Amino acid sequence: MTTPAVDIQGVTHRYGTHLALQDVTLQVAPGALYGLLGPNGSGKTTLFRILSTLMPPSEGRAQVFGLDTAQKPDAVRQRIGAVFQDEALDDALTVRENLRFQAALYGLRGTGRRERIDALLQRLDVADRADDAAGDLSGGLRRRVDLARGLLHRPDLLLLDEPTSGLDPAARRTFWTAVQRLREAEGTTLLLATHLMDEADRCDRVGILSDGALVADGAPDTLKDALGDETIWVETDAPARLCNRIEAQFGVSTRVVGSTVQVAPPDPPAFLSSLYEALGDRIRSATVRTPTLEDVFMVHAEVSPEDRRERVLAQTEETEG
Ligand code: ATP
Repeated sequence: MTTPAVDIQGVTHRYGTHLALQDVTLQVAPGALYGLLGPNGSGKTTLFRILSTLMPPSEGRAQVFGLDTAQKPDAVRQRIGAVFQDEALDDALTVRENLRFQAALYGLRGTGRRERIDALLQRLDVADRADDAAGDLSGGLRRRVDLARGLLHRPDLLLLDEPTSGLDPAARRTFWTAVQRLREAEGTTLLLATHLMDEADRCDRVGILSDGALVADGAPDTLKDALGDETIWVETDAPARLCNRIEAQFGVSTRVVGSTVQVAPPDPPAFLSSLYEALGDRIRSATVRTPTLEDVFMVHAEVSPEDRRERVLAQTEETEG
């Protein structure tokens, strides 16, 4: 069996008494693009810190290409590159100087260094700005230079922590074209933390972290298929209350998904008109469609305190009559 690029087994991490990761087990195949989705504070950065050897996990083990991150940190660091949220470019240096400086830290010298820098500048479409100061670049260009920085030593695994946050749609598209070109040319395995569903949708596999636990793990289409085929998605001000009403009145199964209600009758288009007729005053809008990754996320990610409060209120109301 091929050694996984990333192999995380039963990883738990605590900051003092605060539990940031709970018994996480996941694997990333070599060459794959794996997306980690999760609400703020769900543990994505903590997992990245462990993988990049910045700290050992409190329990469990993490391996990169078979190397334990706690026992062989130097060897792991040779195999990984990272593009974190805080970019590390020196604004006063040119793009090429920034890359040269980073390359020197990895021990790259002479012709090899020059060729590697030139190749990355071409591949990431920033060659024409190589002699400009980093401080003069737009946000999108800076991210691509940062990506080049993370790739100088030809890492086999690249960790991308929300790499396109703050970029406009055009800059995000260009960034992803560059990443795609990189995957084709170098076969790099990518582990991406993101809040953006369209980015997660382009991954080979997606893991959803909620409150430090891995609550879903699979190919985007498999995760969507698990929510069923075509169903009705209803926007309402009181989802839990509407669920209870629909179930009581029609006996069809429903589910609260964030601020939306998913209704799964045998014939969704036909059921839609009965639903409007009976409960139209409680419905803001309703559509018949197949599940999206956003729906998957909302089903699996931790329910917000507002949703929880509403559910409790709705249950109390039903019990009281
Ligand atoms: P975001 O999407 O906001 O970047 P995240 O999913 O990356 O969040 P983490 O940064 O890993 O989440 O944080 C997980 C939990 O651990 C959060 O509750 C956070 O407040 C807590 N935490 C993170 N770093 C520390 C630290 N150094 N000391 C104490 N608690 C921390």
